[in-house]
Amino acid sequence: MVSCPEFRFLVQDLPDEGIVVEGDVPFAALDIAGDELTSCPRPLRFGLRVSPLGDGILVRGWLRGEVEMICDRCLVPVTLEVADEEVCHHLEHVVGKEIDLTEDLREDILLAFPQSCLCQDECLGLCPECGANLNEGPCLCGPPGAEDNPWGVLDNLGLTEQ
Ligand SMILES: [Zn+2]
Ligand SMILES: [Zn+2]
Repeated sequence: MVSCPEFRFLVQDLPDEGIVVEGDVPFAALDIAGDELTSCPRPLRFGLRVSPLGDGILVRGWLRGEVEMICDRCLVPVTLEVADEEVCHHLEHVVGKEIDLTEDLREDILLAFPQSCLCQDECLGLCPECGANLNEGPCLCGPPGAEDNPWGVLDNLGLTEQ
């Protein structure tokens, strides 16, 4: 269970129009450190409006950050935006209490993380023979012949890209 002071609010005397809370928190404070393929060197930025709603509150806003991932095909590092522009949480019966949105917001941004990563749509990847990055030019192994590579014909049609 993680808890960031930035995401804890005492719900008391909220003006009708709500209050706006903005800032940033390190991903590490959200217990998001990435894995061997993903890292989060920059903090997560947030902008939230906390408005009264009955005896509860409505929290709406955005979360934006960046993750560094490794291209699935050629293994170069790529920086990707991760964002949730439609954060929305409704909490009931919280007037006079301190609420903690850390877990909710952590879930929101984790859902925005990409499941896969390509440096470019047409990334050519690495040569299976010599390991050269084929985006930087052909290697000396040459293209696989259609005869000895049963997938060569499909490659040419782009059918193996799916
Ligand atoms: Zn790539
Ligand atoms: Zn090669």
